[in-house]
Amino acid sequence: MASNMNMDLVNVRLPVEDEGHLFRLSIREGIWTQIQKQEANAAHSNAVSLEQWNPQLGTGQSSVSFIDLEGKILLPGFVDAHMHLDKSFSLTSVENRSGTLEEAVRNYSSASPSFTKNEIKSRIMRSALQALSFGTTHIRTHLDFNLRSSREVALRTIEAALEAKEALAPYISLQLFPMCPYNFMSLDVDAVEEALKMGVDGIGGAPHLSLTPKEDIDYIFKLAEKYDVPIDLHCDETDNPAMRTIDHITLRTKSEGYSGRVTVDHLCALASMTDQDAHGIIERMADARLKAVSLPAANLYLQGRHDSFPVRRGVTRLKEIWEAGIPIAVASDNIHDPFHPFGRGDLLQIALIGSYAAHMGRPDDLRTLLRMITDVPAKVLGLTSYEVKAGNMANFVILDGSTPEELFTMLPERRWVYSQGSFVRMAAKKTEWQDKALAHFWQEVSENVSFHNHEFAKG
Ligand SMILES: [Zn+2]
Repeated sequence: MASNMNMDLVNVRLPVEDEGHLFRLSIREGIWTQIQKQEANAAHSNAVSLEQWNPQLGTGQSSVSFIDLEGKILLPGFVDAHMHLDKSFSLTSVENRSGTLEEAVRNYSSASPSFTKNEIKSRIMRSALQALSFGTTHIRTHLDFNLRSSREVALRTIEAALEAKEALAPYISLQLFPMCPYNFMSLDVDAVEEALKMGVDGIGGAPHLSLTPKEDIDYIFKLAEKYDVPIDLHCDETDNPAMRTIDHITLRTKSEGYSGRVTVDHLCALASMTDQDAHGIIERMADARLKAVSLPAANLYLQGRHDSFPVRRGVTRLKEIWEAGIPIAVASDNIHDPFHPFGRGDLLQIALIGSYAAHMGRPDDLRTLLRMITDVPAKVLGLTSYEVKAGNMANFVILDGSTPEELFTMLPERRWVYSQGSFVRMAAKKTEWQDKALAHFWQEVSENVSFHNHEFAKG
């Protein structure tokens, strides 16, 4: 028994760690115990493939399952550093005809008082489980906090999210960040403290939407310090290059000694500025040790809506921020809601969109993008013991592909997801050709045409 908790995996590829070797990995009681390089593609007669393995039966008499990954890629569980689980799947009740951020904010805020706690909780759970099915094991979600409507409406979302977090805790971990409403000093600020006392994980907001952004930012820092929680702000999500709330956030981060505990998201204004202005800001962000998140899908959708051609596309300077040494993740943002009508909670899809948006398609770029959905967002969330390393909890996704090139080209549907001590999703069987001649052609050409291209990848 316990075949899920005790496993040896052979012929594993770990592209982020070392592409030159295959690995043998051991898990005991859900913890990584051994990470060993293999000499070559070793034959293991008593190992079974993932397809053959039955987690209920294990492999034979042994209490340790022995599984041959046949060269498939294993990544630590994806970390989605920025979602809005409470809003997901609300598009049927909240439209956005102009496709602008302004209309999305306006329409969502007039609709939100009508959402029941149960409805919000269901949406959170549905989208979190969907993300888990694609390999995400950790999520930071921002939460609507509609204090302008009423204290009850604002706290309803917090209650729903806390309940969903608890229900999902054995499978996926959620961090909850309520978004302080803009101009919120004119409101019942005590409700924000109430949310913090209820046990949310940090504090968020979107000060660039405020008429009093500096005052908002100062107050958010004051609350964060009082409750000793990290800060994660939507920052300058606009095409207006003069919008610079980032300057005040950077300043406060340093003056309050909050370096390493502040994350800034979107940063679209940086994409509209001159190089000279942007480079100065990026330098100061690095100096304040800010962490960052880009939301390429949502920003391609929402930004540039007021432009006539040439139309700006809004995605921040992903590569320049990364090269400045700032940990920057790519994340999902919204799923099927007025802010973003698409998305499925699959970070590999988001990394691909990031690759298009930021012109990051070289072999080394693809490897960087894989880090932007794994160890980099883990750093953003402050996760410790995350990597595939002896002593750490084993949370991972196995993908049906053997190189990063194959992952980005095929976005494999077939994934095996292991979270908190067991496989939570096994992949369906491979699609089979019904026609025998086609099956034969496919087999033959697949052997000649493959994604293995390590020499090219190193260049
Ligand atoms: Zn967002």
